[in-house]
Amino acid sequence: MSIQGKNYIGYSLSAEGEKTFQSYIPAQDQYLPEKFYSATIAETDRALLLADEAFDKYSKIPSQQRADFLIAITEEIMALGDELINRANLETGLPLARLQTERARTITQLTQFAELIREGSWVDATIDTAISDRSPAPKPDLRKMHIPIGPVIVFGSSNFPFAYSVAGVDTGPALAAGNPVIVKAHAAHPGVSDLTAQAIVKAAQRTGMPEGVFSMLYDNGFEVGTQLVKHPASKAVGFTGSLKGGMALYRLAQEREEPIPVYAEMGSINPIVVLPEYLKEHAEKLAKTLASSVTLGAGQFCTNPGIVFVTDSEGFTEFKTKYAEEIAVTAPTTMLTAGICKAFYKLKNEAKEEDQVSILAQSDQTSNLHNQSQATVLQVSGEAFIKNPKLQEEVFGPFSLLVVCRDAKEVFGAISKLKGQLTASLMTTEDEASNYPDIIMQLSKISGRFVMNGVPTGVEVCPSMHHGGPFPAASISQFTSVGRHSILRFVRPQSFQDWPETLLPQELKRANPLDIYRLVNNTLTKDPA
Ligand code: NAP
Repeated sequence: MSIQGKNYIGYSLSAEGEKTFQSYIPAQDQYLPEKFYSATIAETDRALLLADEAFDKYSKIPSQQRADFLIAITEEIMALGDELINRANLETGLPLARLQTERARTITQLTQFAELIREGSWVDATIDTAISDRSPAPKPDLRKMHIPIGPVIVFGSSNFPFAYSVAGVDTGPALAAGNPVIVKAHAAHPGVSDLTAQAIVKAAQRTGMPEGVFSMLYDNGFEVGTQLVKHPASKAVGFTGSLKGGMALYRLAQEREEPIPVYAEMGSINPIVVLPEYLKEHAEKLAKTLASSVTLGAGQFCTNPGIVFVTDSEGFTEFKTKYAEEIAVTAPTTMLTAGICKAFYKLKNEAKEEDQVSILAQSDQTSNLHNQSQATVLQVSGEAFIKNPKLQEEVFGPFSLLVVCRDAKEVFGAISKLKGQLTASLMTTEDEASNYPDIIMQLSKISGRFVMNGVPTGVEVCPSMHHGGPFPAASISQFTSVGRHSILRFVRPQSFQDWPETLLPQELKRANPLDIYRLVNNTLTKDPA
């Protein structure tokens, strides 16, 4: 397929504007020739009006057909073959093997949503049958289920060109639930976005979906995103990216005449606490595990362990020496964009200048390529960390701060200062853990996923995964962006009172024609009701 560079508005391509931009190749510091046309105000408006119209039809399409659409998307993505992977490699600098794994994850995510809606019980059908002779007043027949919310706006992140982008963690569940989607393509990988949009459009056409079920718009600025969020037809926003970007969109959405939810998954520094017994027993293993997690993918993961708390106790010197050795031999890696690379160096240099902060380790390897990372670990005392909230700022890249505390009491004092996080990890032995209930409680309060004796990198895609967390890790802590429950971001409950059988949705009909689990008069059953 060839890259079009035009906006995908329903089933048409459109390039009415004059503002264009090009794909940047970070490893070569060069631009690719194709032009991408930023959407105009009129084009953005058209995409939203089409989505609004499509909603009435698409939300009524049986879930079996919506599932076919999702599977068709996976087929069309796979049919893009190496062209998609190679383009992603150019635009992001991410290695081919990593991109293949990420594509597989994206296919898994979409397939899981197809399976979820085929089975059908996810709508949480809840039925309380009528009691006409109840005294003093009769009880009505009430039937509740999740229904789609309306057009969803999706902003993907730069660091996952597939799994958190055009066909990623927001688009999959939004479409599965019965909502049209409008993607604002990430300016860091427009070619990948273009190819993926073509796959979705093809899948929509071949499975007979209404025009407007999917659109994708370009912009390498914030105008289009702002207009999308402010538009009255938009009903929810899925966002993955920086705290700054997420909060800007969140505020915009709350200032609308009709405020709408913005599910923003934002930055996190993912604290790891190492307790003394564990440090004594596993100093070398810990150093190796941490170094590989901090530097994985040039640290460009929202689950990168950006801060580690240890006690200056037995095993610390061995741990510190090995950790520094591992970081020193880390190869430089191409970062996603020139902006991300520049921000990485700026923020790590600023952190280095903070009071009592010193360099524990830096990579001493070099590369001839552009936008290369330099793995860095800084060190600070627990006392200095407690006094300095700036040391909690995320440095996106292969960076971590080691906070060296006098004892576990100081560790508790330090972690009590932490804000909400996607993850928290505790390195401990089973016997030791029970001596530190206050540390366990504190880590539990601030985290969406609590890891024992492991690093936070690596997000399993399965129903029990929670990828979110208390603010500022996510704008709304009750929801996940990964796993089946992420569909709940794009639905709302509705009760149907005293509806005749013929008009009820399939999921709520008395005979239970879809054979789904329903909570009937407080009992979970597939029986008619
Ligand atoms: P980003 O700069 O916030 O960009 C995300 C998207 O939002 C882009 O399309 C961007 O537009 C748009 N955008 C940003 N600010 C905006 C504003 N004020 N108004 C309108 N649109 C706006 O984030 P990124 O660079 O892609 O990703 C890196 C960050 O994401 C890191 O902090 C990382 O930790 C975080 N992250 C979080 C998760 C998670 O699950 N929590 C996962 C991955 C990454 P442009 O394309 O025009 O720039």
